[in-house]
Amino acid sequence: MIARPNDPRPLPSETSLRVIMRGLREIMSEGGEGQEKLDRIVRQIAGVMVADVCSIYLKRQDGSLELFATEGLNPSAVHNTRMKRGEGLVGRCSELGVTVNEPEASSHPAFSYRPETSEEIYHSLLAVPISRSGKVLGVLVIQNRMSKEYSDEDVEVLQATAMVVAENLASGAVAGTVAALEGSLLQPMIIEGEPLSEGIALGHVVLHEPRIVVTHLLSDNPVAEMERLEQALTKLQVNIDEMFEHEHMSAVGEHRDVLEAYRMFAHDKGWHRRLREAVEGGLTAEAAVERVQNAMRTRMLKQHDNYWKERQRDLDDLSDRLLRVLAGRLKSSEDSSGLPAEVILVARTMGPAELLDYDRNRLRGLIVEDGSSQSHVAVVAKALGIAAIGQAAGIVDRVTAGDAAIVDAVTGEVHLRPTNEVIAAYSDKVRFRARKQKRYQSLRGRPAITKDGIRIALLMNAGLLVDMSHLIESGADGVGLYRTELQFMLSDAFPRLDRQTQLYRSVIEEAQGKTVVFRSLDIGGDKVLPYLRQPKEENPALGWRAIRMSLDRPELFRLQIRALLKAAAGRELRVMIPMVSASYELGAIRALIEREKTFLTTHGHQLPSNILVGAMFEVPALLFDLDAFLTRVDFVSIGSNDLMQFMFAADRTNARVASRFDVLTAPPLRALRMLIKAAKKHKVPLTLCGEMAGSPIEAMTLIALGLRSLSMAPASIGPIKTMILSLDAEKATAYLEDLLKEDVKDIRMSLQQFAETEGVAIDG
Ligand code: PEP
Ligand code: MG
Repeated sequence: MIARPNDPRPLPSETSLRVIMRGLREIMSEGGEGQEKLDRIVRQIAGVMVADVCSIYLKRQDGSLELFATEGLNPSAVHNTRMKRGEGLVGRCSELGVTVNEPEASSHPAFSYRPETSEEIYHSLLAVPISRSGKVLGVLVIQNRMSKEYSDEDVEVLQATAMVVAENLASGAVAGTVAALEGSLLQPMIIEGEPLSEGIALGHVVLHEPRIVVTHLLSDNPVAEMERLEQALTKLQVNIDEMFEHEHMSAVGEHRDVLEAYRMFAHDKGWHRRLREAVEGGLTAEAAVERVQNAMRTRMLKQHDNYWKERQRDLDDLSDRLLRVLAGRLKSSEDSSGLPAEVILVARTMGPAELLDYDRNRLRGLIVEDGSSQSHVAVVAKALGIAAIGQAAGIVDRVTAGDAAIVDAVTGEVHLRPTNEVIAAYSDKVRFRARKQKRYQSLRGRPAITKDGIRIALLMNAGLLVDMSHLIESGADGVGLYRTELQFMLSDAFPRLDRQTQLYRSVIEEAQGKTVVFRSLDIGGDKVLPYLRQPKEENPALGWRAIRMSLDRPELFRLQIRALLKAAAGRELRVMIPMVSASYELGAIRALIEREKTFLTTHGHQLPSNILVGAMFEVPALLFDLDAFLTRVDFVSIGSNDLMQFMFAADRTNARVASRFDVLTAPPLRALRMLIKAAKKHKVPLTLCGEMAGSPIEAMTLIALGLRSLSMAPASIGPIKTMILSLDAEKATAYLEDLLKEDVKDIRMSLQQFAETEGVAIDG
């Protein structure tokens, strides 16, 4: 086309490229919303390239293309016109990453006409992919009324322009309006979730296989279809049985219970019957799976608790697996073809068995949109030792398979498409953690003794059998808190006597002679057991929980005590009662324990060689009844998490208030000092097993207050031991006493200064 003498638009040439580049630079450097910038870009390109139409389509997560800006097409089509993956000439350009140059676009067999765009009047079309680092982000298109093949020069100009547009999209310069496309824009992004299984992992995203879409609904031959279904069900069961042979799953533990429940579901006669009925009714096997899943899900959705959520995940997992069997696409964990060397698995939701489908040697991290720390998949991730994060809202829509990702399952952050700096920082972190871990391991056999010769007992907290392996790894002196309720929360039904006995026996055996303190059921409040009817409460933390339930519904408590007594036959048993609020409650508890002892002896069972009954110190009222309380217990453990929430009247689960008050201030420290002194006077062994024990500066303060035993998460043992080895406890005591006497404003800061000048290792 020839430009008329007065036409300000130059020919598409070297000059036009320069004009476009200058224009783009101006548009990008000026302020304004992303949409406005895109609108100006298309207007400018159309002008300079003498095109009747210029449009930008951007790729969505599912591969479809959305019209984001246009000059020349009907403006109302913007954000309304979407082309499916590969649809039309624009879709071809995006899918194949190729330039399309068509003089008669509308007569091309791949052309897809969209009436809302009013593009029927345009004949020629030039489409180039907007791509960066080999990844197509969208398509830049020009169209003309006249039928023509665009020149090589036009193609080059448009390609060069598309490259610049891609850079600007990827750098976030026009990100404001393209929120919907965030994920496909290659930008770095942080998504916050909740750690499910501790660790840090770097790798590349593998999207958990999306569900197989059922397209064929009605069967022509119900008999053959039934045969397919039966074969698939058999294959499914074999596949699940094999899962139990998985090297990481063969040991006893909760992860096995979780899989056992899943296996029972797979064998469930009701499920099989419904599937058969659906096939008899004329559906294909695949459609039957879907129909039954929908029907069962509808019923399950009416239940709101965790138990049903987990059952629903099991059902979804099983249905997907059965569909894959039917489609001949069932993977085995040995089949790692096509997987990156370091896999970060991303899923909307995931059942426990699905995780085992992936090659453990490549699996580094897991991110799920809806998993909670008590979900079954979290238990399996822990058993496999994979860094995992749950509650990562919207992540599936924001990633593309192959994206680099970092799972920080310490803070709960997911870094998507991290910059090189972030990758370098995390690689350092991983190396540093490994080095530190090595150093801690070298301290494993060394007792925690302060510089002035005071021995501190370092115990660990546990709640699942899988945690017990940490006892040896961390070098802890024993288990200071075994939270028995976690097992109950993962089960389908109240664990029976034998099951409980077996579990407690395994725990004692895995402790290899080290002490274990079993805490009796701390349920109620927010820790609900789906199979136990509990009234809804306004203030669950202050409600019918722990010992209160044990006293009111003694049959559950007695069953647990019986299991513990049997499990510890011939050995020492330590039982600890949570949430004691008044000293007299302990008399009632002891009476229940005595009753179980009598029962077992009359039935010829051997009792433990020694039974110690302790209490958790979590309710501030006891501070004013210390003598009576301490004469009724064999040992005490301070539950500082609860004690502090009650002391400050600040809900520990409410992020707004949870960390509002500092435990390193005079009131709580004076309270702790009072308790420590009284316990010493009564010669009652005292430990602290809340979060405070695992934080170096807080642990230092507790030792300064006179505490000689601490129980914490296994990962904290190394850092706390390092701190103790560098501490002069007497000096710290004298220093803290002065701080408390002098009413110092910022005790935490003063203690930090003390640690710094005295060379106490509080940095973890
Ligand atoms: C505590 O309250 O400090 C404690 C250790 O118990 P839990 O965190 O299980 O309530
Ligand atoms: Mg507690």
